[in-house]
Amino acid sequence: MIRVTENLALIRDLLAKAAADAGRDPASVKLLAVSKRQPVSAIHDAAAAGQIDFGENQVVEGLEKIRIVANNALKWHFIGHLQTNKTKAVAEHFDWVHSIDRLKTAERLSRQRPASLDDLNICLQINVDNESSKSGIAVADVADLARRVVDLPRIRLRGLMCLPAIRDDFESQRKPFARLRRLADELRASGILTDTLSMGMSDDYRAAIFEGATIVRIGTAVFGPRNMT
Ligand SMILES: *Cc1c(COP(=O)(O)O)cnc(C)c1O
Repeated sequence: MIRVTENLALIRDLLAKAAADAGRDPASVKLLAVSKRQPVSAIHDAAAAGQIDFGENQVVEGLEKIRIVANNALKWHFIGHLQTNKTKAVAEHFDWVHSIDRLKTAERLSRQRPASLDDLNICLQINVDNESSKSGIAVADVADLARRVVDLPRIRLRGLMCLPAIRDDFESQRKPFARLRRLADELRASGILTDTLSMGMSDDYRAAIFEGATIVRIGTAVFGPRNMT
């Protein structure tokens, strides 16, 4: 209990400090606690310490945790690669999907989101480094996909997400995040308004906050090393 509680307090302070140093309101940066491959007990501890948003990257594991934790006050974010044959369960049980990388996935989520629930919040995952090994939409295709998903019913385009290649120093870390921010600016200029930049993890959240991150996805710094398989 102590460790997650203390880690959370520490990381909240560090996020607030990064925001202040960047000249931003600390309340404009939301902490998404990435609980993938962490035990349910750790989620309970974090929730007891006031954490609301949790991120999972595997459908089966995420659904199991949502069911066991059974806390309606929590928000569940899907952040992993989403296969089209698993969209229905995600549409029914998650609040956010950060990793939309094709129209077909968005269309299925739109059809499968129960009308009884709030709209499903979605972000488009962008391959900011144009790495062939990475999932995500090519930078050149973002505007077209955004135009197609923005009008789909029962899902709401909130913004962009990226998972850049690992870089060690602050200035190089900022570059891909700046690229994501500019892409959102370009969408805005073409009339597509979004309010979310999902970027930054345990080792690069500070650079992401300097470039305008509104959601940072942090696992290890909150929960420690992932040990559950
Ligand atoms: C695992 C994961 C994170 C969290 O990574 P940490 O380095 O543990 O903070 C963030 N985003 C995505 C998409 C992930 O898969």
